[in-house]
Amino acid sequence: MECYTTCDELRAALAQQRARGRTIGLVPTMGALHEGHLSLVDASLRECDHTVVTIFVNPTQFGPQEDYSRYPRTLEEDLAALAARGAHTVFAPSTEEMYRPGHVTFVEMQGVALPLEGQRRPGHFRGVATIVLKLFTLVLPDRAYFGQKDYQQSLVVRRLVADLNLDVQIRLCPIVRDADGLALSSRNRYLSPQERRQALLLHQALQHVVSRVAGGERNCQTLLSEIEALFAAAPGVRLDYASIADPETLAPLERIEGPAVCALAAFVGTTRLIDNTLLAPPQGRA
Ligand code: AMP
Repeated sequence: MECYTTCDELRAALAQQRARGRTIGLVPTMGALHEGHLSLVDASLRECDHTVVTIFVNPTQFGPQEDYSRYPRTLEEDLAALAARGAHTVFAPSTEEMYRPGHVTFVEMQGVALPLEGQRRPGHFRGVATIVLKLFTLVLPDRAYFGQKDYQQSLVVRRLVADLNLDVQIRLCPIVRDADGLALSSRNRYLSPQERRQALLLHQALQHVVSRVAGGERNCQTLLSEIEALFAAAPGVRLDYASIADPETLAPLERIEGPAVCALAAFVGTTRLIDNTLLAPPQGRA
């Protein structure tokens, strides 16, 4: 496995791979890798000849009050995990390498970037879209792998690709969870043992919605009120938002008559976690 820190080195190495006819898979990450990230690496290794993993804690996607400076940075462990998995190339640039002095170009998006995380984290998707576009133009991947864990991000990236005519296939991989259901996240490291138990409520609330929909409930306001009640009754957790929305546009739904996504964000102590599930009413029932 090769690890590069400069754009020029990365470009030169990948040009050689492309010249040999190899397809390239890209897995963008912010490091502090866990099995969720590694599942994306596995998917790329299955589908592409050459897998590139990027590790970059992107400052432009963090708000001023957010956890940029304390975000976990575990490069040595990450490299060991990626080598063990069989990744071919790692790109771990410095902040200055990705944002040279004088950098003023950003990708602004409307539509699917506006609600939910876009509303709660102003500027977040501007930072995400900008770094993803930069990584796409550096790596020129055939396919890029994203997790359903950040469902809205995957829609933003698909929109970016469509709107800017980028020649890359976007692959969405399922959420990897701990045995008890908590979605794996680099931010889970912030949780105390007690908070780790309290954090389970995100998954439990989603499971509650899944079973209510399977049982025939269609009214989104009813379901959202039930989520709010679950959070209101639980100590140590505070719901930031809950949404049941169209899975393509994220427009809120009144009733679940077709595919939908239920997305949650909640604070567990001071740690903000997100989770989601796709919903579909069972066939043949009203
Ligand atoms: P991050 O390092 O948080 O920016 O995440 C990098 C990529 O890994 C994103 O596409 C995430 O959606 C994905 N990812 C993070 N956590 C999980 C998980 N639990 N299961 C699947 N994918 C994940």
